[in-house]
Amino acid sequence: MNNPRSHDLFTRASQLLPGGVNSPVRAFKSVGGEPFFAERAQGAHLFDVDGNRYIDYVGSWGPMIAGHAHPQVLAAVERTMRNGLSFGVPNPLEVTMAEAITRIVPSCEMVRMVNSGTEATLSAIRVARGATGRSRIVKFEGCYHGHGDSFLVKAGSGALTLGLPNSPGVPAALADLTLTLPYNDFDAATRLFEQAGDDIAGLIIEPIVGNANCILPEDGYLQHLRELCSRHGALLIFDEVMTGFRVALGGAQQRYGIVPDLSTFGKIIGGGMPVGAYGGRRDLMSQVAPSGPIYQAGTLSGNPVAMAAGLATLELIQAPGFHDALERSTHALCDGLEAAAREAGVAFHTTRAPGMFGLYFREGPVRSFADAMASDTQRFNRFFHGMLERGVYLAPSAFEAGFVSSAHGEAEIAQTIEAARAAFAAL
Ligand code: PMP
Repeated sequence: MNNPRSHDLFTRASQLLPGGVNSPVRAFKSVGGEPFFAERAQGAHLFDVDGNRYIDYVGSWGPMIAGHAHPQVLAAVERTMRNGLSFGVPNPLEVTMAEAITRIVPSCEMVRMVNSGTEATLSAIRVARGATGRSRIVKFEGCYHGHGDSFLVKAGSGALTLGLPNSPGVPAALADLTLTLPYNDFDAATRLFEQAGDDIAGLIIEPIVGNANCILPEDGYLQHLRELCSRHGALLIFDEVMTGFRVALGGAQQRYGIVPDLSTFGKIIGGGMPVGAYGGRRDLMSQVAPSGPIYQAGTLSGNPVAMAAGLATLELIQAPGFHDALERSTHALCDGLEAAAREAGVAFHTTRAPGMFGLYFREGPVRSFADAMASDTQRFNRFFHGMLERGVYLAPSAFEAGFVSSAHGEAEIAQTIEAARAAFAAL
């Protein structure tokens, strides 16, 4: 690819932004090379400032489930912004959004809008601690819940990509309150709750892990965690920032039939604007200020333009058959990639849920964080660049899930598989 403009921008950015970016994984640190700068995006495609076009499997890290620049989303934003960008008093779209979320996700009897997934998870554990009067939380190796202090312990995503599992600046006294478990290990969870169950305020989990590549829950695992939490009076928190509204309309909790006490959301409900939300049982959420004493607030929370983008996106994904089609596309993509790897004699495996997938340079199955880490990342990095040169943009890290949108049609998927044939052969 010919990227003189991106190169110039990255040189300037590197002087002024840490690592040249405003969020770590964007910097291509783990795959090597330099990021390209986007000029615009449309449907399944990103266009960079040098005029190159890429089929995009990152989708802004999840929000663009209906494709980039969807005309209905843009029209809603345009209509709404003409009335003003922020009011600082309640606006009607916040009510519509709360009604939509609580209808689509029945475990959420009440909801609070925030501005990012990070804020949502931070607030959810505050509610868990405030409501139970306990201090400890449980998370899973390789799960990422944003950059809140309590979560940067054995965290996934950029923390994993950059080899920064425990960030400087997180007080040990706080990190000590975060207990970690290996994902999909039934017995380890049982043992931890037997030892420390009475001190655990809440257990937070990505029900499908999307920040350590992509790992699916074993049969009965989420139910096991549900039962442990109920038995020990701890709250079960599903972090559905990535899976929410994606793997099923009602998220992973609908797909696996689990009722968490609290849930966190982001990405899709903002349609590309900065949005997060947390919600859950009425008795818990009514303890949040101002109806209760657990404090959480936000100058821009419930922003009308963000609500408009999110609501338009939620409307699109409620079209009949939307998630079935997304599941079919995801399978077509993953099946095609596996076949192409087989042809080239490359050890390769995929994991999938509707609209999200993991790519592994190893044989399957992959069921644990350790399995996921055993993927050949050097090979992934070469494959990533091979695909980029052929106009396909995958997540620039071996540890991130990829995303398929409704704009990825048969043509885009066939083109991707064609590119993969050549990229696998070149390995
Ligand atoms: N939770 C999960 C599961 C996520 O994937 C992410 C972001 N990728 C977050 C929380 C944090 O969201 P944000 O980046 O919007 O703060």
